[in-house]
Amino acid sequence: MTSYLITNARVFDGSGAPAEHADVLVENDRIIMVADRIETGPDTRVIDGAGCVLTPGLIDGHAHLGFGSSVEHVSDRTEPDEEKVLLTAHCGRVLLDHGFTSAYSGGNRLPGAEVAVRKAFAEGWMPGPRFRAASWEGSAGMVSPGQYDFPGTDVRPSDPQSVADFVSAMADRGVDIVKLSLTGESAVVEGTSRVLQFHPEELAAAAATARERGVWLTAHAHSAEAITMAVEHGIRAIYHATFADQTAIDALAAARDRVFVAPTPGIIWAHLHDMEHPPTEGMETQETFESICRVAPELHKRGVRLVIGGDYGFGFNPIGRNARDLRLFVEWFGLSPAEALRCATEFGGQLMGLGDELGLIRPGYLADLLLVRGDPTTDITLMQDPANFALIMAGGRVHKLDPS
Ligand SMILES: [Zn+2]
Repeated sequence: MTSYLITNARVFDGSGAPAEHADVLVENDRIIMVADRIETGPDTRVIDGAGCVLTPGLIDGHAHLGFGSSVEHVSDRTEPDEEKVLLTAHCGRVLLDHGFTSAYSGGNRLPGAEVAVRKAFAEGWMPGPRFRAASWEGSAGMVSPGQYDFPGTDVRPSDPQSVADFVSAMADRGVDIVKLSLTGESAVVEGTSRVLQFHPEELAAAAATARERGVWLTAHAHSAEAITMAVEHGIRAIYHATFADQTAIDALAAARDRVFVAPTPGIIWAHLHDMEHPPTEGMETQETFESICRVAPELHKRGVRLVIGGDYGFGFNPIGRNARDLRLFVEWFGLSPAEALRCATEFGGQLMGLGDELGLIRPGYLADLLLVRGDPTTDITLMQDPANFALIMAGGRVHKLDPS
């Protein structure tokens, strides 16, 4: 049995409650005790957390390991599939190095790569986060992976069977999540963020098949119409939610116990700061920014669970910068640092489907832990620099230990 005692740190347990002094005892993959002072035997390794705050490991709720670019390596996105699999694994390791002990995928052109890295990470023979694997982003007409033309529902007849077949085929591949692009994306094809891509009966067919096959659905949805439709059909995770109107906000608030929203600020920030390719009018970057800065605080106020994750994985927005979302939750959306951390921990654990064992520092929970030098509950930017992490532990295994 491997056991660790983390002592002298203040503990932020993930619930949003203030950090308090406590000792935390880990045995094998679990936290077994959180108490004022814990006595241990000689076999327990003691980690001194003086001057640090211990938090649950971070959880990215909208991760794209397959986009392939990290702070260490830039992908040109034209690599052969074999290399893309390696890039997916590489990005997982970089994410873990940056304190993300779990990730919920937002889609990958190679679903099989996600299923493979999920296994490798879980079995511990490659370093990476606890992982939920996703399909490629199903788009209108279920064309082919990587075809992002977003023609909209006006130009094609409804075809519920092909949508159901897509969900089923992805379930056969072993993914946890099927991703549907309910709207286009203006950052990819100008002017399409508010163009609906699925007929309502197609979404109903997807939802029925997903229930039958035991996979979750995630919707990429910018427009009010798409968000409302997603909630109505019981979609579990909604990405962007940019142009939610009062009706959509009310629908999300009414569904707050079963829905998660990833407002995805990271990619907006990256576009606004991309000097090499400044955003064009048709990308609607400024409108997207202004609208989400109204919508996200309102959703938070209404008790909707926001999760972090910002479409990291592009060269201009690489994996490794993911904790920037925490800062944007504070600076753009007005959450306190503790509230932002709760989105990245407790709510992330719930999004992963492991709410009763992941995302909090409580006895019985998985030992996914970060020891942060300084106090991220007063300075959230500390989470952006992994040099501030004295310890990264995932499932009771030490990924990094850097005392002093
Ligand atoms: Zn995405």
